[in-house]
Amino acid sequence: MKHSLMPKKYDLHSHTNHSDGKLSVEDLLMRALEKGVNVLAITDHDTTTAIPEAKSYIESNQLPIQLISGVEISTKWESFEIHIVGLNFDESQSLLQQRLATQIERREARAQKIGERLAKSKIEGAYEAAKELAGDGAVTRAHFAQHIVNIGLAKTIPQVFKKYLTRGKIGYVPSEWISIAEAIQWIHDAGGQAILAHPGRYQLSAKWLRRLILVFKESGGDGLEVALSQQSPAERSQLIRYASEYGLLASVGSDFHYPTNWMDLGRNLYIPETCSPVWEHWPNHIPHHIEVAS
Ligand code: AMP
Ligand code: MN
Ligand code: MN
Ligand code: MN
Repeated sequence: MKHSLMPKKYDLHSHTNHSDGKLSVEDLLMRALEKGVNVLAITDHDTTTAIPEAKSYIESNQLPIQLISGVEISTKWESFEIHIVGLNFDESQSLLQQRLATQIERREARAQKIGERLAKSKIEGAYEAAKELAGDGAVTRAHFAQHIVNIGLAKTIPQVFKKYLTRGKIGYVPSEWISIAEAIQWIHDAGGQAILAHPGRYQLSAKWLRRLILVFKESGGDGLEVALSQQSPAERSQLIRYASEYGLLASVGSDFHYPTNWMDLGRNLYIPETCSPVWEHWPNHIPHHIEVAS
């Protein structure tokens, strides 16, 4: 039996322990199988190191999963941290890797400053602990949050963000990310598509969200992530309308970091047929079928 005739279930936004996801590449792929996701993008923060590992695991185990190369690039627009997901690019491109290395350096420098700021507030050793949790992967604020939960200063990760890590709080360090236009350029130069990640999560008013989408579109952006796992139906409909209004493709992604009762790979990502999905416009170098013999 060829799996190419199986209905496709897409999830184009997910994380592994190469950034702030909790699952290894292998465990993420096993979970995708369990959840019936057969087109999966791994989109770690500012790094693609999970991609070759995932490709070789899929190949050696003949898994019926089409892996889409992905990355989630941190950018700054006005005073907001905006995430741009790249899909379907050549992750072996050395220019892209040099460019992503500068983001990883920024992450490192910011992590040191976060550690210093927390130390001034009597939370010692947070930098070292966050680095330990990140291992060889990209260090993120989520690692600091996990540490602060581990030492009992908060019950949950969202609580840590609220209390310590968001703008105006003691552990917040303004970031020096690249611009939206640069991120789009990096992704395009490597042959991929640029997607505005989780547009509903930046806490922007309708007016500002439109401004963001316009800037993204005018900078050459390709698509909006219209469907997320945790999202109101009203938000999804609104994003679908914006995608068509601004001439952008529709992408779907759980932004999976680890399983919870309300979050899983492939969960609640339906979009109506009226959408113009990214997968109908994959760049030409991407095969259109999953050709895995069982
Ligand atoms: P960074 O890219 O280092 O700024 O870290 C951002 C990451 O932290 C996001 O990708 C989320 O995984 C996580 N994060 C950000 N805000 C929150 C929040 N309020 N609650 C839980 N996790 C969050
Ligand atoms: Mn994250
Ligand atoms: Mn994000
Ligand atoms: Mn993400």
